[in-house]
Amino acid sequence: MPKRLIPATAAAAAAVAAALALPSGGPAASPPADVLLLGGNLWTGETDRPRATALAIVGDRIAYVGDEAGALAHRGPLTRTLALQGALVTPGFEDSHIHLMSGALSLDRVDLIEDGSVAAIQDRIRRFAAERPEKPWVLGRGWLYGAFPGGLPTKEQLDAAVPDRPAYMECYDGHTGWANSRALAAAGITRDTPDPPNGAIVRDARGEPTGALKEAAVALVESHAPVPGDAERYDLLKRALRLLNSQGITAAQDAGYGLADLARELPLLERALGEGRLTVRLRASVQLSPGPVDAALAEARRLAQRHRGPRLRFGAVKAFVDGVVEARTAALLAPYAEDPAQGRGHPNWEPAALTAAATEADRAGLQVWLHAIGDRGVRMALDAHEAAARANGARDRRGRIEHIETIDPADHARFAALGVIASMQPLHANPDQNNADVWSRNLGKERASRGFGWRSLERAGARLVFGSDWPVVTSDVRRGLFCAVTRKTRDGKPDGGWLPEQAVTLESALRHYTIDAAYAAFEEGERGSLRAGKRADLVVLSPDLLASPPEAILSSRVLLTLLDGRVVHRAAEFGPDLP
Ligand SMILES: [Zn+2]
Repeated sequence: MPKRLIPATAAAAAAVAAALALPSGGPAASPPADVLLLGGNLWTGETDRPRATALAIVGDRIAYVGDEAGALAHRGPLTRTLALQGALVTPGFEDSHIHLMSGALSLDRVDLIEDGSVAAIQDRIRRFAAERPEKPWVLGRGWLYGAFPGGLPTKEQLDAAVPDRPAYMECYDGHTGWANSRALAAAGITRDTPDPPNGAIVRDARGEPTGALKEAAVALVESHAPVPGDAERYDLLKRALRLLNSQGITAAQDAGYGLADLARELPLLERALGEGRLTVRLRASVQLSPGPVDAALAEARRLAQRHRGPRLRFGAVKAFVDGVVEARTAALLAPYAEDPAQGRGHPNWEPAALTAAATEADRAGLQVWLHAIGDRGVRMALDAHEAAARANGARDRRGRIEHIETIDPADHARFAALGVIASMQPLHANPDQNNADVWSRNLGKERASRGFGWRSLERAGARLVFGSDWPVVTSDVRRGLFCAVTRKTRDGKPDGGWLPEQAVTLESALRHYTIDAAYAAFEEGERGSLRAGKRADLVVLSPDLLASPPEAILSSRVLLTLLDGRVVHRAAEFGPDLP
């Protein structure tokens, strides 16, 4: 039955008028609160009232944000009260660029991201393999180019750790693979195997595969590695969601499922949704690859219709314009510094084909994400967004470019002018060996000095959104926040930070992880800030990061994460049970 909008009687009309006349946020306008948060340091993400001390929740919504007296006016007989003792409350974190199912699978692989030398990497792999004698393959991820002499690993180095079974280790960025001799054999890769389109089997002087595989060539081995069954993958998905909630994350935007991935993984996401276990709101994109795009666009449109709920949405497509700097596959305006023979890198798309695909996707009403890392890749992506807008006319399209590791200053202002969102990942600028050695050397000094230019883009009026690219790097937002404001590793290196003029303020970084991220998902009216009427998605951290030195970010605790007003994470030391 439709809701009655017009009061049936004069008395009812008077009651409605009286209710509307109450001061805004007044208690009688809404039922008593389920939960009151009192005594906190709230950072709201709202420009007109950035700070507050108390908040009331009714059902799945925020009913009030303000001071203690105002919140207490919402108290009823069953209201639960939480004393925050000065802890920081922010909107729930939103990761704007994540690979949820890859992240889930990574929980079952050896993680090499913290190891800086070949010996340390081999050691960790050896121990992992010894603990899992039953696994037919030893799989891992996270190695950094800078850990290997020359920037690329070899099969012999992996044979030394795993001689008895196939072993395959994905680079931290997912763009390069490392196979041992048995994995190459299992995949049938020999000196006679041709390179696939957009990929390379790295070979030594004699033409023998070295064990390193670039870009599309990784699939030659990956497709032979066993994939865990549905039940195991579903368990890993649940673990991944718990992990994200424990990091204060309540929403994420998933960067690109190919059609085959979708067929395999969507049923798991739908199962989690149906069972009420999808405790991170997910907006997922469908991958567009060079060649015919009709099938991917049709699937993206179908899924956008089918999943429109508050927990699972589609409506976007993602394409890889180029590769990565470390593997010299990012597209640059001028040749690579160390290896001019490599030229300017190789975009995955012809500019005209990219523009045509982006235009067609945009015409279908889909949001377009373009992975672009090199300055030429970024320019191609901006050109494609511009051409799509010109062809299809004005619309709230919110096109995006992912990563933007180096950019020509002439392109800064185009983001604001075109309304294109800059989707960046603070930890990709972590000034570790990888960035200091391989990344910076490949680009050369001048171009590297334009690396990860968050502040330059902010100043040019661009809307930035932050994310992790998990499992490329950790999904832990605290690690991202720390790098965003210091440009230092978590050990505090280098002194003063790497290109510190590109660091952002903590409030800016928080905004890029909350309200700006929600904007990128077209959800800024529903989430992303603490405001009456929005969803009660929030995180409680201690201590108050805004009143502490940056180092406190790394040691801070996520005490509580609420999604739709319900607890999805609570630190053991914190508070009573909540609904
Ligand atoms: Zn990614």
